[in-house]
Amino acid sequence: MLVTSLELLEDAKKNHYAVGAFNVENMEMVIAVLKAAEETKSPVIMQTTPGTIKYAGADFYFANIKAAAERASVPVVCHLDHGNNFEIAVSAFHTGYTSIMIDGSKLSFEENISLTKSVVKVCHAGGVPVEAELGRVGGKEDGLDNTKTENPFTDPGEAAEFVERTGCDSLAVAVGTAHGVYKGVPQINFDVLSKIHELVNIPLVLHGTSGVPDEQVIECIKTGVCKVNYATDLRIAFTRGIKEYIKNNPDAFDPKKYGVVAIEEVKKYTAQKMLLMAKKF
Ligand SMILES: [Zn+2]
Repeated sequence: MLVTSLELLEDAKKNHYAVGAFNVENMEMVIAVLKAAEETKSPVIMQTTPGTIKYAGADFYFANIKAAAERASVPVVCHLDHGNNFEIAVSAFHTGYTSIMIDGSKLSFEENISLTKSVVKVCHAGGVPVEAELGRVGGKEDGLDNTKTENPFTDPGEAAEFVERTGCDSLAVAVGTAHGVYKGVPQINFDVLSKIHELVNIPLVLHGTSGVPDEQVIECIKTGVCKVNYATDLRIAFTRGIKEYIKNNPDAFDPKKYGVVAIEEVKKYTAQKMLLMAKKF
């Protein structure tokens, strides 16, 4: 069943667990995430960035995720990850996406508020919830390189004001994670996260979770995080499956043969993360 992220995340918040949000790049990854969700009986968010949408079109991704949702016995959300302007966000909404992120985190506080408000207005009119971002999650994000800038944490007081003024439904926070592959072990700033959790009464979202140790993810879920994003590790798992198959079968030419292996790799990874989050903390 295709649902919005609103009811899923509110339930997660009430019952102290989190819903995994997995970036899918193609049909095989949609199939893999669906299999993992079915196997673990987990609600799931499948998401695409604007960069991914550029590859095949939002309509293609929506059609794939909708088909998965119709097969599924668990709730499935089709979410826009890091919508970076009004047009992209509204276009995904019109395509049928059931959850929209508008990321104005690179703008000034006031500009971020006004952009987020404008997207909330359109999406809420159609019953679709909006995730916003305040503070900068570090690392590489869809071609934008934040690795050289420092990683300023979300200011808890600003977060409370931001949520109040924009009416957004969930908030991505910068608490020490980064997009891409980590050098060394990331360290979440739990002081900042718990302060935000105290002041902000909507589900919090953790970005850049690939490579974050599971113990830290669990701690985040205890501290108000209800949506946990994984992207990089799914790509790694997918490509590892294909590489290994081709290495062992250099004459292979049927995409279905190595596609099955890649699907299995992504399924194994996402199922393990789903089991971690499904526990009620
Ligand atoms: Zn992100």
